[in-house]
Amino acid sequence: MTAPHKVLVIDDDDHIGEIISTAARSMGFACEHTSDAPAFLAALTPDTSLILLDLLMPKVDGVQLLRLLGQQQCRVNIVLMSGIGKRVIETAEQLGAAHGLSIVGHLHKPFRLRELEGLLQAHTTAELAIPLPLPPQTFAPPDIDLKHAIEADQFVVHFQPEIDINSRHVVGLEALVRWKHPQHGLIAPDEFITRLEGLGLIDQLGWIVAHQALSQFAQFADHHGALPTLSLNVSTYSLRNLEFPDVFLSLTSKYGIPPDRIILEITESGLIKELASSLDVLTRLRLKQVQLAIDDFGTGFSMMRQLRTIPATELKIDRSFVQHLQASETDRNMVRKTIEMGHALGLKVIAEGVETLWQLDFLRAHHCDLAQGHLFSSALPAKELLLWLKRHREEVALPTPFV
Ligand code: C2E
Ligand code: CA
Ligand code: CA
Repeated sequence: MTAPHKVLVIDDDDHIGEIISTAARSMGFACEHTSDAPAFLAALTPDTSLILLDLLMPKVDGVQLLRLLGQQQCRVNIVLMSGIGKRVIETAEQLGAAHGLSIVGHLHKPFRLRELEGLLQAHTTAELAIPLPLPPQTFAPPDIDLKHAIEADQFVVHFQPEIDINSRHVVGLEALVRWKHPQHGLIAPDEFITRLEGLGLIDQLGWIVAHQALSQFAQFADHHGALPTLSLNVSTYSLRNLEFPDVFLSLTSKYGIPPDRIILEITESGLIKELASSLDVLTRLRLKQVQLAIDDFGTGFSMMRQLRTIPATELKIDRSFVQHLQASETDRNMVRKTIEMGHALGLKVIAEGVETLWQLDFLRAHHCDLAQGHLFSSALPAKELLLWLKRHREEVALPTPFV
């Protein structure tokens, strides 16, 4: 038999350390506890499968420790402990996630032994913590490379399915661009979209994406029976161009796609910043039946009054709210209210970043219309998406059991 996996506890209260150690050992795990940051870091060996970290300690600051673990790209599952309010733990959980850490739960002191044992059981099975995918390399390409990428047509479009939560049918596809870098491989859009906006090249990228996505969508449509919708992300910079609606509609007509099958996604923050200048273009697009989605909803601090002005048809709840649904009561309330508000404004509501059945069940119980996320499929190249669509022609079979 291999050596038992280790539970590592940092808490200034030795008594808590002892309780956890006894429980963990009785369940077959090795356990070390300390109240000292250097000793904790030294004990963080590769056989560690769970960390229990007290947030409030007199000598070391749990928040600083989280930052340190983030810098070390720690991949071990972490449970936060604290006797202070739930909101503070939730904030710390989000902070941990922002550092790329795997925060898997919290223990609110005083906790029951059963609660502790449940957490140990759930997160310290025979397997070591599943390593999180490493965050994408921060890659700052020189301007000249970005310009060249546009000229050399190095961008490809992947597609992610959107699912009707009730019928489980695929009702839409979102086009997401990637840069096929000759040396660095596929690069995610977060690494280059803002840069291209700064260089004044985002319009060009937008048209490259629109051409590719529309032409591939026309092929999917042939295979799919009922025509789903195609969602395209549009930078607010592009909406400053008063000719945008005419040029865009000439493209949809070139590819034989009815405009009401297209959803243009514009971020909430972008819309609010550029509301006056983009309203003209947005209204004309709507008049021509193109649908409009408010993307990344919840991150832009918009007011009800502003939202009412935007001629949108769909609201996309940002994935950062969906991610913490199970752990955060605040996020559950936010999502519930957002769905209600979206419906009150006559909008379809879609949740992005859905990864678990728990999240999907919550969204269904609160009448969210659509869902998108790794639970169903990540964004796929056109060929693979076609195969995926064939496999899921009727409805989306959910992986069972899905934890
Ligand atoms: P977005 O519009 O919010 O797109 C959703 C992002 O969430 C995508 O990241 C997608 O791959 C990711 N995602 C989907 N399901 C899950 C999930 O279950 N879990 C997690 N953790 N993530 C999930 P991606 O492709 O890296 O795109 C990032 C952003 O780049 C997009 O965010 C969008 O704002 C922007 N973008 C992408 N394509 C274009 C484009 O053609 N034009 C413009 N202007 N912006 C684009
Ligand atoms: Ca989007
Ligand atoms: Ca989003």
